Amino acid sequence: MSDTLTNWAGNITYTAKELHRPHSIEGVRALVAGSDAVRVLGSGHSFNEIAEPGGEGVLLSLTELPPVVEVDTAARTVRVGGGVRYAELAAAVHRHGLALPNMASLPHISVAGSVATGTHGSGDANGSLASAVREVELVTADGEVVVIGRGEPRFGGAVTSLGALGVVTALTLDLEPGFEVSQHVYVDLPLAGLDHAAVAATAYSVSLFTDWREPRFNHVWVKRRTDQPPADFPWAAPATEAVHPVPGMPAENCTRQFGVPGPWHERLPHFRAEFIPSSGAELQSEYLLPRPCALDALHALDSVRDVIAPVLQICEVRTVAADEQWLSPSYGRDTVALHFTWIDDTAAVLPVVRRVEEALEAFDPRPHWGKVFTVPSAVLRERYPRLGDFRALAEELDPAGTFRNGFVRDVLGD
Ligand SMILES: Cc1cc2nc3c(=O)[nH]c(=O)nc-3n(C[C@H](O)[C@H](O)[C@H](O)COP(=O)(O)OP(=O)(O)OC[C@H]3O[C@@H](n4cnc5c(N)ncnc54)[C@H](O)[C@@H]3O)c2cc1C
Repeated sequence: MSDTLTNWAGNITYTAKELHRPHSIEGVRALVAGSDAVRVLGSGHSFNEIAEPGGEGVLLSLTELPPVVEVDTAARTVRVGGGVRYAELAAAVHRHGLALPNMASLPHISVAGSVATGTHGSGDANGSLASAVREVELVTADGEVVVIGRGEPRFGGAVTSLGALGVVTALTLDLEPGFEVSQHVYVDLPLAGLDHAAVAATAYSVSLFTDWREPRFNHVWVKRRTDQPPADFPWAAPATEAVHPVPGMPAENCTRQFGVPGPWHERLPHFRAEFIPSSGAELQSEYLLPRPCALDALHALDSVRDVIAPVLQICEVRTVAADEQWLSPSYGRDTVALHFTWIDDTAAVLPVVRRVEEALEAFDPRPHWGKVFTVPSAVLRERYPRLGDFRALAEELDPAGTFRNGFVRDVLGD
């Protein structure tokens, strides 16, 4: 490539020999059929080499494809193109009076790239974003178009696929009637005496934030649906000013607080589409554990907080409902997700990532596929009971391994 291309965080430089931005599905099919090694780049918000095709490979960006967002109000579904971001999708769905069940902390990310890594928001009853997908349209390595729908045996591998099956050119998602959400922030919740299950169950989506400088949570962000009965939050005091999850960052970048009701897509993410999300200078890691381990895992992190705090910007604790995607980090189990926004210093952060992984090891953690982790691939494979089924599907759809980059080969044990 003539220009240097990096991920959003800037910690990964893609080495692909070519970057292509096809204008049509026919263009995608021709490019893929004529290439030996291909990866698709979504919006580049992952923090590792998951999208890296290797120096002899081709990187495909779908940003020049027509930005398809076709809402079917009668069926309550939306068909969305492979390059579209949640920001545009959510605005279009909202205009039709409909809603997605949940969103991640930011709307800047592409839908296809997000569901490929098991991206999630929060909420005891909310599955990962992939749970809303009912059909996947793929261009496979031979340039053919394959459609896989919910209910088919292959569907369990088709959505959270790490980009290993082909180019996702469109996804069809389930929608629900539009709803409003009010967001309140509470401050200074001590870890001592925490009833995590009760706190997480208090609203539709709950996030706890701590900088681990003390055994307490700086904030709890509580997102209540206005069509559900409000529950009290007796454990901490309401914030008196608008806040950002990362200490020192402007609250203006964040979605509206103080309980002002607003449409689902302007409250469920923490960050507003027109601003830089999070701190913008950072690395991230995240581990997804069986939810009953939440409190023990938080105490395990507390025991190493002296190591964590110096390289941490903020840690977020969320819940995710079990889903059925074989490679989803929340596959088959209701989950607590422990997220870390680190400083942007790989050398300083990596040893701490290892310490966090040691502290959490007893809880069978599955790392977020799009973030920084050091768990050896042999250990990772033990944590995914359907990995063999996924490998068989990848071999069926992509026998020559056109979409199998180093990251995917590691995961599959090839
Ligand atoms: C500031 C910030 C906040 C974040 N917040 C959250 C959060 O709240 N929850 C959470 O779970 N994660 C979060 N993440 C992580 C992020 O959601 C994931 O890394 C997600 O995968 C990013 O989507 P993307 O489109 O940028 O994917 P990319 O990083 O571009 O790609 C991810 C994978 O998807 C594949 N891919 C992308 N598009 C296609 C396609 N059309 N066809 C086939 N394969 C494709 C790529 O090849 C790659 O393997 C956050 C990241 C950042 C930077």
